[in-house]
Amino acid sequence: MKKSSGAAPAISGFPPGCDAIIALGTNMGDRVLNIERAIEILGRAGDIDVVSRSRLYRTAPWGVIDQDWFVNACVGVRTTLSPHELLGRCQAVENEMGRVRTRHWGPRIIDVDILAMGASCINLPDLVVPHPLIAERSFVLVPLRDIAPNIALDGQSIDELLKAVGGDDVVPLDHR
Ligand code: ADP
Ligand code: MG
Repeated sequence: MKKSSGAAPAISGFPPGCDAIIALGTNMGDRVLNIERAIEILGRAGDIDVVSRSRLYRTAPWGVIDQDWFVNACVGVRTTLSPHELLGRCQAVENEMGRVRTRHWGPRIIDVDILAMGASCINLPDLVVPHPLIAERSFVLVPLRDIAPNIALDGQSIDELLKAVGGDDVVPLDHR
């Protein structure tokens, strides 16, 4: 696995009409239902409007590979919440759905991460935006491309980044 510097990459080509992009992942229980439920909870209070969503993908575990397959997706949202308010709401979704933190990158009923918020660049201990591992994770890049095809990280397009990491382990769930 490539080592990450942990710093947020510079982002360009953020899709017009949304304020933030959120990544969702799950590898426990009814994964499709978990994603649907997380999206529903995110939008429930009315101050986060889910305006676009990727397809759902079946993906191989990453980082800790001796665990079950995941379903991953991305959504684009409109919101006037601050980055930390949005992080709090992502974590509230995880808590409401009963996420239990065991080992780092281990099995989870739901993971809700902020991938990017416009051109914002945040490097704080509890919040790094754009998310520093986007470029290394095919399970993020492939769904991200569905809703933000023109995004580039440090000048590299999603297709270029995918050439480096490969995307064969990310398969749309509606694929026959
Ligand atoms: P991971 O998503 O890497 O599997 P966790 O979901 O357990 O790990 O998150 C660990 C911490 O990552 C959170 O407590 C949060 O403060 C921090 N974090 C930093 N940047 C972000 C981000 N962009 N989105 C979500 N969490 C983030
Ligand atoms: Mg997370």
